[in-house]
Amino acid sequence: MSKVRTVLGDLDPARLGRVNYHEHLFQASPLLVGDELDDEASSREEARLLATSGFDAMVDATPIGLGRSPEAVARISLATGLGVIATTGAHREGHYPAAHWLRTLPAEPRGRLFLADLTVGMPRHDGDPAPGDDEHGLAAGPDGAPVRAGLLKAGIGYWSITTFERITLDAVALAHAATGAPVMVHLEFCTAAHEVLDLLAAAGVPAHRVVLAHADRDPNPALHLELAGRGAMLGYDGMARPRTRSDAELLDLTEAVVSGGGGDHILIGGDVARRSRYSAYGGMPGLAYLGTRYLPQLRTRIGADLVEAMLTRNAQRFLTWS
Ligand SMILES: [Zn+2]
Repeated sequence: MSKVRTVLGDLDPARLGRVNYHEHLFQASPLLVGDELDDEASSREEARLLATSGFDAMVDATPIGLGRSPEAVARISLATGLGVIATTGAHREGHYPAAHWLRTLPAEPRGRLFLADLTVGMPRHDGDPAPGDDEHGLAAGPDGAPVRAGLLKAGIGYWSITTFERITLDAVALAHAATGAPVMVHLEFCTAAHEVLDLLAAAGVPAHRVVLAHADRDPNPALHLELAGRGAMLGYDGMARPRTRSDAELLDLTEAVVSGGGGDHILIGGDVARRSRYSAYGGMPGLAYLGTRYLPQLRTRIGADLVEAMLTRNAQRFLTWS
């Protein structure tokens, strides 16, 4: 039976509905000091705003060590009715302080750690899992069941893959081989996308199981059609950032990639990610921007049916364990 793994259990993929492929309910990083998402009531309210704006489910794309809070995510999912797919894996190296425990784990134990998050359950807190650390008790959902991750994540730098990031890619491949769980890779400005797909393919992860997050930060349709031609999924999540790139460019990119035959490879999310941009934390424009401001413009450009297919069919296919 095919399945998508959510924080409240496994779902028939068709029941996921409309999916936002990339947001964060909780996140904290030394690179984002002062912009932490760490208040359950505020994150719950923001999740409610996302659901009201036209989404049935979201990926909580926060990996190990960045303030994951699985029990709170499960409570928020139950309270709002929003399906949530949680993440295991690691971000790019810059998010981990020099002494972080994850840095000491070679590929195999790191892969086993990711696998346990997917199959056994995520820890209540992302402390050092070394024996004797009580922080590592398993998170329990509202019904007492373990809260499990449904997606693997790795991250790399700007035209750079450090040793830490390379080990994470290998660990992700190990956990993918055992489960068929989908894989997200954080890219900086879509650099080294081909190189990451090459590394993952060599480690046994086919491109069609990989979404390249932030691919739209290099809005070059020819590059995107090459990546889609290899089978990769393209994560478009850079709307509402006119200081770096206008929504107009993202609309143009999407239209061009659809015209070139790559529409089946596009996933849409907001990746708002910062307290200062969450309505419920007192910021702007909030998670509802995607559904209320951006998607109406995209529907005008490429038609409502194609947008619907990206939010439903593309996301459901990608998130289904193979
Ligand atoms: Zn993100």
